Amino acid sequence: MNQYAASGVAPDLVAFHSLFEAVARFGATPAGGLHRLAASAQEGLARDCVCDWLTQHGFSLRVDPAGNIFACLALAGDDASWVLTGSHLDSQPGGGRFDGALGVVAACVATHAISRAQGLQFHSNLGVAIWTNEEGARFAPSMLGSGVFAGQYDFDFARARADADGVTLAQALALTGYDGQDRGPEHVAAYVELHIEQGPELERNGAAIGVVRGNWGTNKYLFEINGVAAHTGPTPMSQRRDALLAASHLVIACRALSDATEGRLLTSVGRMDIHPNSSNVIAARVTVYAELRCTDNNELQRASRALEAEASRIGVETGTGIAWQQVTDRPAGNFDDALCGLIAQVASVRGLKAMDLHTVAGHDSVSLRARCPTAMIFVPSKDGVSHNEAEFTSVQDIEAGVQVLCQVLESLVAARPGA
Ligand SMILES: [Zn+2]
Repeated sequence: MNQYAASGVAPDLVAFHSLFEAVARFGATPAGGLHRLAASAQEGLARDCVCDWLTQHGFSLRVDPAGNIFACLALAGDDASWVLTGSHLDSQPGGGRFDGALGVVAACVATHAISRAQGLQFHSNLGVAIWTNEEGARFAPSMLGSGVFAGQYDFDFARARADADGVTLAQALALTGYDGQDRGPEHVAAYVELHIEQGPELERNGAAIGVVRGNWGTNKYLFEINGVAAHTGPTPMSQRRDALLAASHLVIACRALSDATEGRLLTSVGRMDIHPNSSNVIAARVTVYAELRCTDNNELQRASRALEAEASRIGVETGTGIAWQQVTDRPAGNFDDALCGLIAQVASVRGLKAMDLHTVAGHDSVSLRARCPTAMIFVPSKDGVSHNEAEFTSVQDIEAGVQVLCQVLESLVAARPGA
């Protein structure tokens, strides 16, 4: 890794804003947000928009069977290793415009600027990666495309994931035209991703750049609660086996685990599927989606076992059957020290206040870490708001992030003779 602080290729910020605005039109909501689920028609159009720009600017496109796109600039020749940068174009339902799209568009203009710069000698190739289904809103699990690339899942597993209507990822990719046969670059030397923080720490500390040192561990569960459907009127209370009552106890038990840790453990239930979901029928079956996050893997495991024990107790107490499946087991871990140091160095040279932090949210970078040295650059989110149409990052913060990304990438792939 070449650690000189590059003099700084300038990314074309006018091109950045123009492409960012163009992409944000696909799936735009009236309130200024985004509803662009993975492999949907709108996400397909957003991909088309970015891919058109990339081909017009000399990138060659490769698409793998998970729908991941690799836009490649073979600057150092076919045998050289690849430095990748990118993010995702899918959003949560009613999500924001910056989550994911920022990293993709920044990757486009940063890599293009480096490829056109005068006087650089390249020892690595550069590529833009657009990962499939990072959000996990349409297909579970989240970070699916990057998980395949990192070797966590195989292509068959990813392609067989089905949405709530039974449409598989393979079918959805075929409809949008991103069902490829390529496997992407083989030898990946590094991955760097620019992303909004989605939390309040940078803003609170007056910092422009977050050097993401690691990620919180995350355990996610599906609890399947089985009761008995019955009339909500005449059925005696003592005879009711109410799956929704059990689910409600579980939601509160999940919260109580966090309350006992003074904020070290974060817990949430964000979704329940209720059957038959009729106001006059005692719920027969409820699926509860629960998650726990912590920086300490031991504490995370202890809390997970405690939640399982609570579920058993609630089942007995409510006369329901509760079974569970742990669907995500993502331990806390660290990003690459040398890359983090490079990001901090570049920010400092540019006179930007940087701070170290850990990401609570999952990101494609967390997957990529299993395959290559990886790091993330965060820029502030106004009021820490994300996964919300009100998500916002200022132009100044965005431009600082794009410039830092560009300079970090330049340092990773190029040298100036004599420098
Ligand atoms: Zn994201």
